[in-house]
Amino acid sequence: MKKQNVSNIPADAASRRAAPAVICYPTYGLPHPDMANLERARTNLTKISEIIVPPRDARCFNVQKGHFFRINSIDGPQVGDLNIWSKTNLAEHFYAGKTRAIHGTHLSTGDRMWSSFPSMRPLATISHDTLDWYGWDDDGGSVHDVIGTRCDPYTAKLLSGIDYHHCCHSNLTRALSAHCQLDYAKAEPLVHDVLNVFMCTGFTKDTHQYFMKASPVRPGDFIEFFAETDLLCGLSACPGGDCSSEHSSDSATCHPLLVEVFDSDNAALDNFPYLPESQYRNACPNGSK
Ligand SMILES: [Zn+2]
Repeated sequence: MKKQNVSNIPADAASRRAAPAVICYPTYGLPHPDMANLERARTNLTKISEIIVPPRDARCFNVQKGHFFRINSIDGPQVGDLNIWSKTNLAEHFYAGKTRAIHGTHLSTGDRMWSSFPSMRPLATISHDTLDWYGWDDDGGSVHDVIGTRCDPYTAKLLSGIDYHHCCHSNLTRALSAHCQLDYAKAEPLVHDVLNVFMCTGFTKDTHQYFMKASPVRPGDFIEFFAETDLLCGLSACPGGDCSSEHSSDSATCHPLLVEVFDSDNAALDNFPYLPESQYRNACPNGSK
């Protein structure tokens, strides 16, 4: 929380505050996904696999380029924490911060999940979201955020003094470790800030602190993604359940999540404008000009 009125207020404070807000990353020049063709393709999907993510646990799954995957609410309201890596290079992963800077604090249909530097390309495009009706509520909250990192045992220890082992960070690390047969210590640094699937969040109007409220998700709801390269994904069913009260404990009611992977009518996607890795080339890697 930012302290105010500690320093002297300058005489021209009002005019300084009145400077116009400018969008940091205007999207006029952003290459857009071909949503019309995606919509055509998703009318003819064939399920090729599914996996249940148990409550307070995580699972990893592969999605081939050109396929779709859905995260479904099944037994009751439940939030999920999603990590995405390039299957062939785990150092390239979802970059929540830059995605937020480009698309805003919460994602929905048509938004892309951008990857880390130096690749910086879309790993996936959100192709459908049954919660897109929610919009923004009176608290300034919305669904599917890229502002909340992921619940983790270090912050829990710092704030509460507890040792809790089923935070999304730990769940994702264990799942990645098992899936890729990596030591826990090697897997942990590969876990990154998430897309908080189905989570309803925002910043309070007075202190601008991160808040959560009961997720509006209900069984039957889903968010669907189109894979723009071969992906390894990790999904944790958050110990916060619907995140209406608390996380990082065993007190919330939790439910499983269902992940389904689909093949598509590839003919409709023949001309999909997949983006290559960033074409920026550092001309002076040693700092010379
Ligand atoms: Zn969590």
